[in-house]
Amino acid sequence: MIIAEQKPFEEIKGLVGSAQKVLVVGCGTCVTVCFAGGSREAAILAASLRMASKLDGDPKDVTDVTVQRQCEWEYLDTIAEQVNEADLVLSLGCGIGVQAIAEHFPKTWVVPGLNTSFLGLPAEQGVWVERCAACGDCILGLTAGVCPIARCSKSLLNGPCGGSQDGHCEVNEDIPCVWQLIYDRLKSLDKLEMLSEIRPPKNWRTSRDGGPRKIVRPDLRLYEEE
Ligand code: SF4
Ligand code: SF4
Repeated sequence: MIIAEQKPFEEIKGLVGSAQKVLVVGCGTCVTVCFAGGSREAAILAASLRMASKLDGDPKDVTDVTVQRQCEWEYLDTIAEQVNEADLVLSLGCGIGVQAIAEHFPKTWVVPGLNTSFLGLPAEQGVWVERCAACGDCILGLTAGVCPIARCSKSLLNGPCGGSQDGHCEVNEDIPCVWQLIYDRLKSLDKLEMLSEIRPPKNWRTSRDGGPRKIVRPDLRLYEEE
């Protein structure tokens, strides 16, 4: 899932600026699960902004609403009236949610309340870790289901660098060397011979390096492209 964390409150206050009627919009999917931007966080942030603006002598009208997913038009349509009445929308969705609101409501000023961090999972209660860099050409079938792009500090694809020490990454000893993890898992699955296979260089055009990406599924489209 997408992992995000809330921006510092002072930064959020700065983004809200002089807007009087503020709508805080939470998102009910990834950012709810990582406790950054769900209905609870949206309500708390709205209350904090109301209190802070009152203390600053400039009370604002701050309300909150949460949609199931900010990145789909049909959910955004359900809050169109509230969005259109607001001077400013403070989105607690990921960067995609913020841009979806901006695209769907062209006359609305929308600002982000979160920093979108990475694609990852909860390793334990209160700890999230990165697992995927969305490279667009998944190689997990070659690396025992462990991603060297997202989990190696240098995104090395052909084994560990010289800084791998006792299973730890040279960048930070709290980070396991991903190539040690790949080696150990291949060994435990009796597939170490996969490491000896010669592979062509990875085609990075499917990643961000090839510019903004797009997937088109003609079988799912309602209209043919002209
Ligand atoms: S290989 Fe690419 S798609 Fe697969 S987990 Fe790693 S970054 Fe994500
Ligand atoms: S020590 Fe391992 S994880 Fe760290 S940069 Fe080198 S290969 Fe990557």
